[in-house]
Amino acid sequence: MSGSVTVLNADYQVLHTVSLNHAIRMIVRGVAEVHESADELIGVFIRPISVRLLKYVVTTWRYQRQPKWSKAGVLRRDKFTCTFCSGRASTIDHVIPRAQGGKNTWKNTVAACSPCNNKKRDRTPEQAGMVMKIIPKIPDWTDLYRQKP
Ligand SMILES: [Zn+2]
Repeated sequence: MSGSVTVLNADYQVLHTVSLNHAIRMIVRGVAEVHESADELIGVFIRPISVRLLKYVVTTWRYQRQPKWSKAGVLRRDKFTCTFCSGRASTIDHVIPRAQGGKNTWKNTVAACSPCNNKKRDRTPEQAGMVMKIIPKIPDWTDLYRQKP
């Protein structure tokens, strides 16, 4: 027996592929059900093309995958602290301004207070002569969820 079988999570998200033998063992053990099958028998089994886990599996990659960028996320990551003056941040600032092609990404955005944001305008910190006290980074999930606004 050869070939690989796609394993789907209980919510039908594709997880990975396993060998046909492995997939049949999963079905026999009752951890997975046949989701799609080929018109072919493997012994007493219909040959699975994909199997679906019966119990939802929380995958580690879900946590490794970087959180989606959001303005609220940037504020939380930077603990609502303005990167320029350490005052209370109420907005975000684009390190490379959008007018200069800067994007909404974790590394291009920092928390800022309105006065600093207005002062910097459509300039980089260097162009505005402003010093960033926080180096923007991609947050992990705990950075985003431990902070209360
Ligand atoms: Zn400020």
